[in-house]
Amino acid sequence: MLNVRAIRAFNDNYIWLIEHSASKQVVIVDPGDATPVIDAIEQYNVTPIAILITHQHYDHINGVKQLVEQFSVPVFGQKTSLNDVITDDISDQKQLAITASFPKIAVINTPGHTPVHLSYLVEGNLFCGDTLFSAGCGRLLDHNARPIADNLRANAAQQLYSSLSSLHDLAADTHIYCAHEYTLANLHFAVAVEPDNAIIKQRLSQIKTMRDNNEISLPSTIAIELASNPFLRCTQPQVIGSAEQYSGTKLNSPLAVFTALRTWKDNF
Ligand SMILES: [Zn+2]
Repeated sequence: MLNVRAIRAFNDNYIWLIEHSASKQVVIVDPGDATPVIDAIEQYNVTPIAILITHQHYDHINGVKQLVEQFSVPVFGQKTSLNDVITDDISDQKQLAITASFPKIAVINTPGHTPVHLSYLVEGNLFCGDTLFSAGCGRLLDHNARPIADNLRANAAQQLYSSLSSLHDLAADTHIYCAHEYTLANLHFAVAVEPDNAIIKQRLSQIKTMRDNNEISLPSTIAIELASNPFLRCTQPQVIGSAEQYSGTKLNSPLAVFTALRTWKDNF
């Protein structure tokens, strides 16, 4: 059995600890900061066996060096030309087996937020970094977290759209652990896109209460996202209509709708 724990970092990041209950082994996902991770490892009395990196933005990797010095664990992910925190490039693997007791982890290629981005699925739990957020998705950025260059934007949008499409097809009850607490802001946008969607309105009020109490809005599930995330609903008539109204043009494909939504949200 796995136990997933959230570690809060910076303003709104989550570093995830995936704990295998029987062995007390933990895998650390996207440690942007080392100190809260070290504190959690002491508090829960667990043994780190690996670090998983979804992508190499500073708020996902800045704690890696210190954690590796302290725990001597491998760092799995996809190497990029810019940063080099990855010790084991697993981008061409479908599955990762870290120890004999820790459950196997499926590796899913999900570029688009950055040109290089992986997601990880283990026992029905998806760790998707900045690809899919609850009620939203990642922005189109380069490796330095700047907006992707104009001439690369269409390609990045296409990549992110197809990455999200591959997550669509996961089991409806898959738990989604994304890397930021953006749910409430995303739902405000979702209401603007689909004012008649009762599920979005109901979620907005529910998440608002949770956030007022400083509760974490995650995990979400694929089922919840399919019902309330506009970026996964690019074939719904009201989503198409709103995106066409925003962009002032007819949008002839789900990808065109998605790209318009991404631009709209960037400026929302
Ligand atoms: Zn990022």
